[in-house]
Order: sequence, then C-alpha cells, then structure tokens
Amino acid sequence: MSDDLTTEGCEGPDCEKALESLYLFLDAEIDSASCAEIQAHIDDCSECLTEYDLERLVKSLVSRSCSEVAPEPLRDKVLFSIRTVQVQISEYRQS
Ligand SMILES: [Zn+2]
Repeated sequence: MSDDLTTEGCEGPDCEKALESLYLFLDAEIDSASCAEIQAHIDDCSECLTEYDLERLVKSLVSRSCSEVAPEPLRDKVLFSIRTVQVQISEYRQS
C-alpha cells in the first residue's frame, strides 16, 4: 500500500504527525518526550523545518504586535499570508 495520500511534498510517515504536534510543541503544551521526537524529525526533514520556522515566525510577529494573546482573526490573517508566501516559494523551487 502506498502512502501517497498523506502530506504532499513531505517525506516519511512521521511528517503528518509531526506537523499536527507542531502547534502544541510551539505552545509548549506537549510532553518533553514528544518534544524530543518532533525536534528530531524537524532536524531531519526540511519540509517540517520550514513549517516549524514559519510557525515560530508567526508567533513572534503576533506576540510583537500584541502583548497579550493574539486574537484569532489576526493569527489567521498572518498565517494565511505566510502560507501564501510558502506556496510561492515551493512553486519557485520546483520551476
Ligand atoms: Zn517531515
């Protein structure tokens, strides 16, 4: 059985799981064992590393522009524009 239907452009069976946990990882809402597991995967996987860096960037931007917890609409807006850039980058790399 092929795993083609899982995360596009992301190699390895751990990517989907790693990305799901990424948000918890960044919010430090995950136990340290999973933390190490995800960190190890990120070190190994450029796709997930990119995602991780983007998420971290979003968090720093959001926390800079708002001293308290960012309102969801703002976070969504920032996430959306960064994802758009990410798509453009990957299209650029493929061409
Ligand atoms: Zn990955």
